[in-house]
Formats: sequence, structure tokens, C-alpha cells
Amino acid sequence: MYSQNRNRTVVIGGGLAGLRAAWNAARAGQSVVVLERSPYLGGRCASFYDLPSMRWLDNCPHAFLDCCDGVREFFAQTGLIEYWKPEREFYFYPPDKPATAAPRPFKESDRLPGMLRLAPVLRSLKFLSWKERLRIIFDLMSIARQKTFDGSFGQWLDKRKTPPSVRTRFYEPIVLSALSCSLDRPCYEMVRKVFVCSFFEGRNRWNCFLPTIPLQELFDVKLSAALQNLGVEIRRKCTVAELERGKNRIRAVTLSTGERILAEKYVLATNFSAAQKLFSPLASLTDSYQTESISCVHFWTDSPFLPTPHGVFPDRTVQWIFSGDKDDLGYYYRGVVSGTNCWQERKNGFKSQVRQELAELNPEAKILRLETLHWKDAVCVPSVEWTMARQLWFEQTPLPENLELAGDWTNLDWPSTMEAAVGSIRN
Ligand SMILES: Cc1cc2nc3c(=O)[nH]c(=O)nc-3n(C[C@H](O)[C@H](O)[C@H](O)COP(=O)(O)OP(=O)(O)OC[C@H]3O[C@@H](n4cnc5c(N)ncnc54)[C@H](O)[C@@H]3O)c2cc1C
Repeated sequence: MYSQNRNRTVVIGGGLAGLRAAWNAARAGQSVVVLERSPYLGGRCASFYDLPSMRWLDNCPHAFLDCCDGVREFFAQTGLIEYWKPEREFYFYPPDKPATAAPRPFKESDRLPGMLRLAPVLRSLKFLSWKERLRIIFDLMSIARQKTFDGSFGQWLDKRKTPPSVRTRFYEPIVLSALSCSLDRPCYEMVRKVFVCSFFEGRNRWNCFLPTIPLQELFDVKLSAALQNLGVEIRRKCTVAELERGKNRIRAVTLSTGERILAEKYVLATNFSAAQKLFSPLASLTDSYQTESISCVHFWTDSPFLPTPHGVFPDRTVQWIFSGDKDDLGYYYRGVVSGTNCWQERKNGFKSQVRQELAELNPEAKILRLETLHWKDAVCVPSVEWTMARQLWFEQTPLPENLELAGDWTNLDWPSTMEAAVGSIRN
């Protein structure tokens, strides 16, 4: 057992929120211990060791937008930013054609002033008519003006009578990429925030950063080393079973082994389902908490599959494909299917559906191996109900004075992402 230490912070959960909390506390001179249930750090930013290709593969590609200042700053401070590469262009592939020829890139003009810089972006959406593209301009102008709406983003589009083709071919891929859920689920304000920050607040803020090394190496090796250099103690395979509450304070944490750890301050930075078991007042939020799942398709082909580093595929099952490198098994690619909440349905027949779609996208490239990986409860959905319930809960629930709650689900400002996790740390 650790004896009472005035200067000690215990961080429960070694995901990005917990690691950010540990970094801040250690830099503020605290003695910090991170308790992580699994054998690795990084939480949902995870990789697995793939035996056939004998390498670490990410469970799912993780990207962040240029406007995610919290993540960028944290990665810069910890020396990780050099392992993230910015993509300055997106490639929207037409829904009804094979993906063998590169489409016009979705990119801003460096020369045109103000919002005019976005004009080339619209030119890249060739699969939409000019009338539909004009529609997008009017929608975006309204989004910029209208700060609130009492409903979901999908309901807002319904009210504006935005045509289905614009919904599925423009908004759906963007909302699925940024919030991992379909248009009808998130509240209007959260989607607006993503549009405002990424398209309206400055040049190229929608550019996206992708890791150049596996997430496991980034977080479990490099970030772990940076934390240890600051004196942070990291305990993996260490499950917290109980938060012992005294009057207005947390007294200790008890591990599943029975060990007790005392500290001055505690940061509960687990995912929501673990947090509400450890801190019972959160149970009142369980009914309004909603999640979405994300699936990742790992596949290898005998020849290059895409002519671009990545592709966005509106109106398809696989919404994004990222090109990897060539290994002993062939050319490696990762496809992302966000918002797969109908996970049980998808499980049966999902793989063959994806295989067929990939064969249509590039009939010449033979698929040598294809694996699908589903992550249930991947992200928290910022639905109208959840957003209101969570806000009320935080306003009305007094927390023990030495407890901080952290994690992507606690962040009221940004959808459930790495940015939300890192930005959930207030101290
Ligand atoms: C498949 C997938 C794809 C995604 N893609 C993106 C993307 O492209 N871009 C993006 O920004 N975000 C993406 N996300 C979301 C992002 O991964 C999460 O929002 C973020 O990692 C959440 O971090 P967190 O620290 O809040 O929670 P977690 O990462 O869930 O960390 C919580 C930690 O707490 C630990 N824990 C739980 N219970 C206990 C206990 N009792 N004792 C000790 N430890 C405990 C868990 O093991 C875990 O390590 C994706 C998520 C998934 C699943």
C-alpha cells in the first residue's frame, strides 16, 4: 500500500485523457501514478499484433483535424507530433464509378481570399450537379449564421429540405468522419462546431493528420517513455475496483487485487461504462448515454488498389480507404466503416458485402487477404438527449473536491475523439 502522500495524483485509465492528465500533473510537480486495466497504454487508440503479416496494425486508423488544437499541442509537448503527417487534400471518389482513376482533389486555394478559398473544394465534388453544389453553399452560409437549433443535424437538414443526394454524398461522409455517426443522431450544435472550426475559422483547418507509426508505438512506447522521463509511474494490468468515498473526498482507490492506494488527488479517466461503475452518481446518466460502433477492414491486394494516398467513398459501405505500404502479404489498405451501430446485423454477411464492394471499386486488384474488426461502443454520440442530460448532470452534481472526471464522454465542446479526450483535462 502507498502511504498517504500530499503530493500524489492517481490517474485511473491510461487512454489519451488519462495520459494528458498524468502529463499535466507531473509537470505541475505532482508525483503521479497511472493505473491502467489493460496491458498497454492508449485505450481506444490501440493496435494489435498481426501474426500473418508479423507487424503491429492499428485497430482502426486514427486521424485528427488541423483545428484540433488540444491534440496538436499535447503531441508537440510530448514529442509525438513528428509522427503525424498532414494530408492537405481529400479525394472524394464518385459513388457510381470504379476507383481506378484519381479524382480531382478536395483542396483549398492558397491564393483566393476569405471564404472564396473554398471554391476549388466545390469543384472537386463532380458527382454533384451545380444546383446541388449551390445548395451546399447556402446551407453552409446558414450554418455559419445559425448558432442553435432544437434538434439533430438531420432534422435541421430536413427543415431546410436539403435534397437526399446532398445529404448522403456530402454531409454524411463529413459527419461520419468527424463524429462517427449518421446525420440523424448528433445534435445540430456539435455538427455546426465541426463545420465552423474546420471550414470557417481559418485556412486548411480541415486538413487531417495521420500517424506514420502504429498507435501502439506512439502511445504505449513513446508517450509512455516521455511520461516516465517526468517521473510518472505507470502500472499496466492494474484494474481499479473501487473508489472509496469519504465525506466530500475520495479516500483511496482499491485495486482488484485488494491493494489500496492513497493520494491527494484522483482523476477518473476511464470510458463511461467503467466510470459509472466506479462513481455511482453517474449511473443516472446511463439511460441517455448512446454509442456508435466503428468497423475497420484490413485488406491486402496483389497490385495497387487506389491511385491516391486515401479515398472518401460517399454512398458506399466503406467510407474511407487509407493506403498503407507493401509488405510480404501484398499491398496493404485499411477501410473504415463508421456508424455501424447495427453491429449485430452487420456481423453476418458484413465481410462478403465489403469484399464485393471492393471488387467493384477495383476489379483489377485481386484481394489476397481481408479481415474485419468491429469496435462496439467506439464513440459516444452527442445526441440532443445526451448533450442536455450531461450538461445538467455536470451543473447539478457536486463532485468530491479531490476528484476530476475526464475522458471523451465528459467533453461538452467537441465530439468524442482524441481531441475531446485530451481537452477534457481542465487542470
Ligand atoms: C475504432 C475507433 C476509431 C476511432 N477513430 C478516431 C479517429 O480517427 N480520430 C479521433 O480523434 N478519435 C477516434 N476514435 C475515438 C478515440 O479513440 C477516443 O475518443 C479516445 O481515444 C478516447 O480516449 P479516452 O482516454 O477518453 O478513453 P479510452 O481510450 O477509452 O481510455 C480509457 C482507459 O481506461 C481504462 N480503464 C477502464 N476501466 C478501468 C479500471 N477499472 N481500472 C483501470 N483502467 C481502466 C481502459 O482500459 C482504457 O485504457 C476512434 C475510436 C475507435 C474505437
